[in-house]
Amino acid sequence: MTLGYAANVGMALARSAGVGLSATAVIAAKLARGEGPGFGDWVAVLQELGGKKAQSVREATKADELCDFAEESRVAIARLRQRRNDEAHGRPVDRHDMADACASALADVELLLARSQFLADMPLILAGSTTWDALAQSGSCEIRRLAGDHPVVPRERLAVSRSDIENGSLYVQDSGGELHLLRPFVIAGDCPRCRALSTFHVDRVSNGVATLKSFEHGHLDEVPHFLPALSAVGLLPV
Ligand SMILES: [Zn+2]
Repeated sequence: MTLGYAANVGMALARSAGVGLSATAVIAAKLARGEGPGFGDWVAVLQELGGKKAQSVREATKADELCDFAEESRVAIARLRQRRNDEAHGRPVDRHDMADACASALADVELLLARSQFLADMPLILAGSTTWDALAQSGSCEIRRLAGDHPVVPRERLAVSRSDIENGSLYVQDSGGELHLLRPFVIAGDCPRCRALSTFHVDRVSNGVATLKSFEHGHLDEVPHFLPALSAVGLLPV
C-alpha cells in the first residue's frame, strides 16, 4: 500500500513536472490489455523517479522528499523485487537460508516503511469549492486535509493563487506550498463497500468502465466516464 501510494503520487508529480515515465507507459499497456498494475509496476515507477529523471521532477516541483525516498530506497526495493521474482519463477529460498532471507527482507521492508514516513507528512488535500477574485487574482479554497485513517476531517480554508482547483479532487501540497493534482492517479471517495472516505487508484479497465481499488482496504469501486482522464495522463492509449 505504501509503495503503491508513493508510486501514484510520484506519477502525478512527474506529470505535473512534465516528465514522462516509461513505467507509466507500461502500466497503460497493462490496463489496455485488461490487466491491473501491481507491486512490480509501483517499484518501476519509484526506481525511475529515483534515477536520472529525479532532477527534472525536483526542479519543477518542491517534492524533494519523494525523490529522496525513491533514490534512497533503490537498493532495498530492487532486492525485494528480486526476491519476489525469484519466488514467482520457482526459485524459492533454500530452507537452510530461510531465516537469513526473512531477516533481510524484513529489514528492507522496515527501512522502506521508516523512510516512507514523509508520505504521512506530505499534505494530502481534498479540495472543495473555491472562491475566486479575478481582479485580485487570489482566492480561497475550502479544503479537508486527509491524514492517516482518521475518518472525521475538519474543513478549513486555504488561500490560493489559482482558480482552476477542482472541487472534489485530491492534491498534494509540496514544500513550496504548490498544489499538484492527483487525479486520476489517486482519487478520493466514499467506498461503496465500507462507506469510509477512502483513496483509490485505477486497478482495471474493462468494457469502458474503470475499476478503482482503495489503498486502505483493497475495496473495489466501478467508475464510469473515467477513461478520458486516464487517456489524458497517458494511463490509457488514446
Ligand atoms: Zn472500503
